Amino acid sequence: MNAPSLRTRVAAAVAVTCFAVVAALALTLYTSSEDLEATLVDQIVSEEMAFLVRHHLENPDVVVREPGPNLQYYVVRGAADLANVPEKLRSLPVGQHEIGSGIDEQHVAVREAAGRRFIVAYDAGLHEIREQQFKRLLLLALSTVMIVAAALGYWVAGLITRQITDLAARVSVLDPGTPRAPLAQEGQETEVSALARAFDQYENRIRELIAREQEFTGNASHELRTPLTAIRTSCELLEAEPGLPDKARARIAAIAAAAERMTGQIEMLLFLARAQAPGSKEAVAMAGCVDDAVQPLLADIARKGLAFENAVPADAVMELDRQALDIVITNLLRNAVAYTHQGRIRVMLEGACLAVSDTGIGIPPAELPRIFDRFHRGDSQAGGFGLGLAIVSRICSQQGWRVDAESTPSRGSTFRVWLQ
Ligand code: ADP
Repeated sequence: MNAPSLRTRVAAAVAVTCFAVVAALALTLYTSSEDLEATLVDQIVSEEMAFLVRHHLENPDVVVREPGPNLQYYVVRGAADLANVPEKLRSLPVGQHEIGSGIDEQHVAVREAAGRRFIVAYDAGLHEIREQQFKRLLLLALSTVMIVAAALGYWVAGLITRQITDLAARVSVLDPGTPRAPLAQEGQETEVSALARAFDQYENRIRELIAREQEFTGNASHELRTPLTAIRTSCELLEAEPGLPDKARARIAAIAAAAERMTGQIEMLLFLARAQAPGSKEAVAMAGCVDDAVQPLLADIARKGLAFENAVPADAVMELDRQALDIVITNLLRNAVAYTHQGRIRVMLEGACLAVSDTGIGIPPAELPRIFDRFHRGDSQAGGFGLGLAIVSRICSQQGWRVDAESTPSRGSTFRVWLQ
């Protein structure tokens, strides 16, 4: 799973910080209001008790003024008075008490004086309801603060990270070969500008590296061409020699074939070294291109007894880089011939999709994803370097084409190239 984005994390951090601060504030407010209320109620109860005792002792026969709706007075002189006292207050010892909870909460004071027991009870239920309302209000404020803080944090973080995401978008489409404006620009934040400069420098180094690699490949291919031409010419001269034993003639043919193959590979390397940008396009007769590509393979096809079918319509013409197409078809056909021992090889064109199919040994499913890797070779080891398909894949991405392979072991393979 992807880690959350910087923007989300900043928003979460702001929200959590605001939540912690407001929660601490709300808790302090709530507990101190609760303490204050309890102290206030206890004070009312003690004052009422002092009043009741004083008044009763001064005028024992006069009934004390009617207590309020939340207040009850009881003076217990004997068993008869005790009967008027509610059950829950009867057995309370002398002192201040808090009984019941929620809406039934009562603060009670019990005192004894002049052989009598005085009880003052105060219903704190209303206060309790107010307290609950206050608590709900605090919770509402807390969730509102959290949502607002998260939205605000997300927005602010968006402002900060926008330049980074812009830079990431530009870096993601960078192509070291094509000219472009530097990533570092006026008006960038200091950190973003430093990052952009670092990318610019890095890209320059990559460009130099590519140039060096191209130069090396180009030079090496050039150097190799001359000795290979010498080998091929020598082979031709030797083959023309009369009275050569058959065994020697076969060896010379093998050397000539290998030199031919290597010349082909070197042509490809040279092409890749030269053509970083797509080359010039021209109208290409597709069937003719296939015929040209299969020409050097016809001897092998005949030797193996394979059938070859060029099913590309004779009038099919496409606008593309002919040399690139030639290398792609040559490689696919060479593989088809190398890895097919019986049956047929067919080339088709459906719309812009060129398909080369064979009835050869096929490719195991586990190997299929790796066949386009450089130097990957299957078990059959049919004499290649594991470079052909890597070159095909590289040319396709260079030309904006797409290549894929489909294969069933022992049944055959089909390579498709979408030429658009
Ligand atoms: P190589 O020079 O070994 O042929 P490639 O890059 O052309 O290298 O191919 C890589 C591997 O893919 C081959 O070694 C072979 O195992 C497999 N492969 C390619 N084309 C075919 C095909 N038409 N049929 C079966 N296997 C194939």
